[in-house]
Amino acid sequence: VSRAEVNAARAKVTKDVRAYVFARERDICRICRKRPATSMHELQFRSCGGRVSKRNSVAACGDGVSGCHGFAQRHEIAWDDYGLGAEGTLVFEPTTYRAADWMQIKFGSKLISPPMVEMETAE
Ligand SMILES: [Zn+2]
Repeated sequence: VSRAEVNAARAKVTKDVRAYVFARERDICRICRKRPATSMHELQFRSCGGRVSKRNSVAACGDGVSGCHGFAQRHEIAWDDYGLGAEGTLVFEPTTYRAADWMQIKFGSKLISPPMVEMETAE
């Protein structure tokens, strides 16, 4: 298998996971649940061995520098889960006042973020 084939396979996985994750979060940031999601973030950083996957990836506002994605990247937003990663409920906790301000929650509190679910529609 050539390097080009490996890279192409990785790019396809990333594209597929990204489509899945944005659909799961209904295009809303999974971290603040307020702003439109504009980028994909890995809970366990890729630099720490985290992979692009349904469990490890969330859709977030901002990019690696701005928004929730930026705060998470700088460890200004900590996360925890209940064993299912992003496929289950996530808990986000700002570790700085400015991250709390951005998330619009009180410093010292946590934001519980279950997967977005489709609203039941009355027939
Ligand atoms: Zn956000």
